[in-house]
Order: sequence, then C-alpha cells, then structure tokens
Amino acid sequence: MWRTSSSAERAAWHELRARCDRRVESLLRSVELPDPWNIDEFIDGLERHRGRDVDLCAVSWHLGDSTGAWQRNDDHDVIAYPDNTSTMHQDYIILHEIGHMISGHHGQCVLSVQEAQRRAPDLSPTALAHLLHRGDVTTEEHEAETIATLIFARITRRTGRRRSRRRTGAAPDDRTAATLTRLTSAFDQL
Ligand SMILES: [Zn+2]
Repeated sequence: MWRTSSSAERAAWHELRARCDRRVESLLRSVELPDPWNIDEFIDGLERHRGRDVDLCAVSWHLGDSTGAWQRNDDHDVIAYPDNTSTMHQDYIILHEIGHMISGHHGQCVLSVQEAQRRAPDLSPTALAHLLHRGDVTTEEHEAETIATLIFARITRRTGRRRSRRRTGAAPDDRTAATLTRLTSAFDQL
C-alpha cells in the first residue's frame, strides 16, 4: 500500500478518491450493475453507453502476474486479462481497465510483469510486484485502481445483502470478502 508522508499528499489522495467516486456514480447512472453480477452483461451496457466496442482478450500470463492491459483504438477498446486466475480476479482486472476508459485516460495501461521488466530489467519478479503495487504508479493508475475497487465493493456488498435476505444456505464467499477487505484496506490506510 502507499504511504503518505504529508498532509498535502493526503489531501491529493482525498481529491482523487472523490473524483473517482463521482466517475463511478456517473457511470452507474447510465450502466446498470447486473444482478447477479456478470462482467459480460456489464460490458454490453458499457458498450451501449459509450457507443464503442470493448474486446476482451484472454492471455496466458505467468502465475503471479496479476495485471491486465488496455489499449484504446480509434473505434474500440481492447482489454487483455490473464486467463489463468480466478474469475473474480479477472473481473477486478477488467474493472481496473474500465476505470481508465471512463476517466478519459488516453494512454495505455500495460501493468504486466513483462512490461515492468522492460522498464526496470535489473529487478527480480518479486521486486517488480512490489514496484507495481506500491511505487512507480501514476495518478492514472491510482484512479483506475480506485474505480475498480469502488465498483467491486458495490458488487460484493450487494451480493452479501442478497444472500442474507434469501437465506439460501449458500456457502459464504469468504474468499471474495477477504479479497475485498485487502483491496479496500489498502486505500483506507492512507
Ligand atoms: Zn492501469
């Protein structure tokens, strides 16, 4: 997680969070969160809302390579995500890339180990993971990650309420809850 060292940095963080909150609110006024959650349906709605196609591209990446990629083209977007991780994790990665899109970022997000190794070839993969998650990240990456976390939190909270109300006896999704806690705590500690 990122450590802030001054009130100015904390203020910048709160501004970023508020900015992302507004973007998520605006998006969800136009694009419904499918219930039950389904990333394909969500992207269908996103395509209609933006008038642009979004192509999802599953890519086999090394275990531990926890990130995806986004490429903005003239008339459509491409999101690459690892096919060798959990569905929930894939969805989170895709939401991160959607965070870039709805923020109007115009660059590329390629937060892969391979990309990082090109930037910093002397670092070990372990150090790279550290770098990607804590260090050399831009404001755009912070925004995309924050938006993914905010949307993911809504999905998870709603799933919890529905399960509770129906009393189906379904197994508690501890893994989802634990992941969400880990993700959100990284932000809340700032
Ligand atoms: Zn990104």
